[in-house]
Amino acid sequence: MSKKIILVMGPPGSGKGTQADLLERDLHLAHISTGELFRNEISNNTELGMKAKSYMEKGEYVPDEITTGMLKNRMAADDCSTGIILDGFPRTIAQAEFLDKFLLESGDSVSRVIYYNVPDEEDVNRIKGRAEHDIEEGKNARADDLNEETIMQRLSVYHEKTEPILDYYRAKGIVLEIDATKSINEILDETEDEL
Ligand code: AMP
Repeated sequence: MSKKIILVMGPPGSGKGTQADLLERDLHLAHISTGELFRNEISNNTELGMKAKSYMEKGEYVPDEITTGMLKNRMAADDCSTGIILDGFPRTIAQAEFLDKFLLESGDSVSRVIYYNVPDEEDVNRIKGRAEHDIEEGKNARADDLNEETIMQRLSVYHEKTEPILDYYRAKGIVLEIDATKSINEILDETEDEL
């Protein structure tokens, strides 16, 4: 049986990570966030983490070959056998093409792309809010959430490199667009009704 592969897409601060966690809970699929994998590599001081860090702190994308290699390793784990929610990958057309080819090797393909749409201004407020919330909770805020210049650069790179992928998937007729300005539960309900 082919695996269920769901992509969650949207600008930084769109809440896609939160929604992916909830979908993981409800759909029993493995949630893979490439950003989270990089942050783990950084906290473990690995060579890969050190390479990724220099790009992440500038709000730039980590080069494709580093990202795809790391993802391939993660996708080989047992918990991915029934299906995956991919959060933050693909972020470039080249990554989308890689993913299609890689999935095809096992007879799989992307089942659905959920696009969480949020205006830029709200994204910036949410990212700043996330940093404040982490600090209030006594946790370390994400380094790339603390610097306004990095936030603006992440948004600009998203529009330039990631937004065009939506048309790549729209041509396949698999995009589900969600107004992500709504509450967390409303967004989840709407998504699960549509899936
Ligand atoms: P995220 O947690 O998804 O917001 O990702 C945080 C940062 O990790 C991004 O701003 C990028 O620098 C890097 N990153 C995550 N996923 C990718 C990817 N698919 N390709 C390149 N860089 C990525």
